[in-house]
Amino acid sequence: MMKIVQCWDDGVVDDIRLCALLRTRGARATFNLNPGLHGARRGHDWIYQHTKVVQRLALGELCETYQGFTIANHTLTHPFPSRLSLAEWRREVSDGRKQLQDHFQQEVRGFAYPYGEHDAALAEVLRETGHCYARTCLNATPCLPARDDFILATDCHHADPAFWERYEAAKAARSPVFYFWGHSYELMTEADWAGFDAKLQRINADPEVRWADLPELFPSSAPQRSAP
Ligand SMILES: [Zn+2]
Repeated sequence: MMKIVQCWDDGVVDDIRLCALLRTRGARATFNLNPGLHGARRGHDWIYQHTKVVQRLALGELCETYQGFTIANHTLTHPFPSRLSLAEWRREVSDGRKQLQDHFQQEVRGFAYPYGEHDAALAEVLRETGHCYARTCLNATPCLPARDDFILATDCHHADPAFWERYEAAKAARSPVFYFWGHSYELMTEADWAGFDAKLQRINADPEVRWADLPELFPSSAPQRSAP
């Protein structure tokens, strides 16, 4: 049975609607957050495609918004990784993880690179700071097993026109997983939301797949349990 996993970045206001839809369809998901960018009010606005104001959620909205979903680290403040020293990078990833764990009271083991920028040195720091995978913006089908779990590709973006081709290719390759990602603010129109909902329903109608959480795909890096 192929596992279906998805993750969404940046902790924006449209995640409220997305999470409600995912709950309605029984879909599991991971949200990659930057805890240093959530304040007392919604903020850190930017304009997407010249038309849409995108805002980060307020700190006080996070727990209710993401109730029941998996939280992953996206650094403390979403810098360009290539512009940081390794010491700054280490602080961004370790402080980001710690603040998320403190806020959500769940272990945070996943990571997504801001802007998809990655290299071997950045990956090594992630390996050393309690993460079990790090997602890039690369595409590969099948995406697992990966050559390096800390330079992890997905099958595709949620809005990729080849989404269903990739999905069928993953099944044909007997891939253990089909993995897609995105940002909820990319769902601009009611037609976009309906189209995404149709994807969820088509996945739910497929008896050969099931939803899964990302960390369960990386059991070899699970925390060691002491012997009884
Ligand atoms: Zn991001």
